[in-house]
Amino acid sequence: MIQDILPSRLHNHWQPRTPLPESYIMCFRDGKLLASLKDGELRFPKFHESRRDAVYLFSVDDAAFFLCDADETGDFQFYEMRELRDRCAGKYLYAAFTAYHLQLWYAENRYCGICRGDMLHDGKESALVCQSCGHKIYPRINPAVIVGVVSKGRILITRYRRGYAHNALVAGFTEIGETLEETVAREVMEETGLRVRNIRYYKSQPWGMAQDILMGYFCEADGSDEIKMDDSELKSAVWCRPDEIELQPQQHSLTNEMMMLFRDTNGHLPPEYNPVTPDAAPRKTRICFTRHGETTMNVADHISGVTDCDLTANGIAQAEQLADICAQHPEISVIICSPLKRAQKTAAIIAEKIRVPVVTDERLREWNYGSYEDQPRGETPVFQAAKREFGVRMPDGGESLLQLAHRVYSCIDDIRRKYAGETVLCVCHGGVCRVAETYFKDMSTDAFSHFFMGNCELRQYEI
Ligand SMILES: [Zn+2]
Repeated sequence: MIQDILPSRLHNHWQPRTPLPESYIMCFRDGKLLASLKDGELRFPKFHESRRDAVYLFSVDDAAFFLCDADETGDFQFYEMRELRDRCAGKYLYAAFTAYHLQLWYAENRYCGICRGDMLHDGKESALVCQSCGHKIYPRINPAVIVGVVSKGRILITRYRRGYAHNALVAGFTEIGETLEETVAREVMEETGLRVRNIRYYKSQPWGMAQDILMGYFCEADGSDEIKMDDSELKSAVWCRPDEIELQPQQHSLTNEMMMLFRDTNGHLPPEYNPVTPDAAPRKTRICFTRHGETTMNVADHISGVTDCDLTANGIAQAEQLADICAQHPEISVIICSPLKRAQKTAAIIAEKIRVPVVTDERLREWNYGSYEDQPRGETPVFQAAKREFGVRMPDGGESLLQLAHRVYSCIDDIRRKYAGETVLCVCHGGVCRVAETYFKDMSTDAFSHFFMGNCELRQYEI
């Protein structure tokens, strides 16, 4: 984050200091800051370049910063704060944002809110005092929260309708009379219609464009995770798995750090921040298998191993029916799919309906039938006999059944490891489904030979 400048340090304690020639000056006009970005390095003018009234702001290490007026000269010109944020990094960017916050406070408090008298610096601490009635005010800081809502291994990613264009989390300002935890619950409810529990503090960010301090929290969706987005505030609000998170272009913000932490821990946040309610009993892993919809080669009764072919209109309808069935099972979190076209098309139809990611796994492609590929089944009577020879490869570059079993078993082993406790749908082929059945159940050779999986039939196994 921008404030992470160790071993440097920003000293914000106010002191009665006068500028020296090497002191930096921070000059703002219309919210823009006078700076130089020459050679990609953020620099500010020094005091001897201006010599006008200066107010001490803070120091970064030994360098003192003063609020002071100046003009554009040489390399120094006025930059929007957002431009500096996009183009710079480091301790002087932190100084720029802190100065921006302080100068807004000075500019907005030139007169007393009680008697309209002149406000001048207290001279002892960071405060302004009315010269008529003595009313004293301190720099204003607006508390706000940023919220990483998690549910079922996913995090809620938003985009705002206005302002910052990149991915963000739910955010909002604290209202008077509200605890920070109440702000978290209220903002999440207002923006997404979700109820939350287990609110855990993460870290804070002491700079922003709105004179704010941001406090970051993780929490868990409580009850339904159906999002009812507030269109007036947000452009999008979606649940993202760790591998789907698109970070912000800079590593400046608390929001980005929270998204990155969720991504890099694969959704398993460190215990001190983790809001996920532990399961009373560990959930079982469920792996569902289906065979692609009907294809042109199925209709022609051709042997289709690794030969690509298209779904028929009937095949598409079968995939749509299966998608409707899958929609009754919101616990399906991912589709693992064979690379072959008929399986990919079937998976795409289901994924569009139930909105889960599709991961392609080479090991789920159909048995390579070698020279039997694309032959009319009726004219190759030896094909069935060849299929029963488990250890013998299909002729001309094909696979043996044991080779097929090796890759399908290793794929299922990996699914069990990677998606432990989840429900996964594998979209593949008749031959692969037949082998998968043997992974979970004892089968006699005869039962194996007679096993048949219809197009888009669904079988599920629990571990
Ligand atoms: Zn006053």
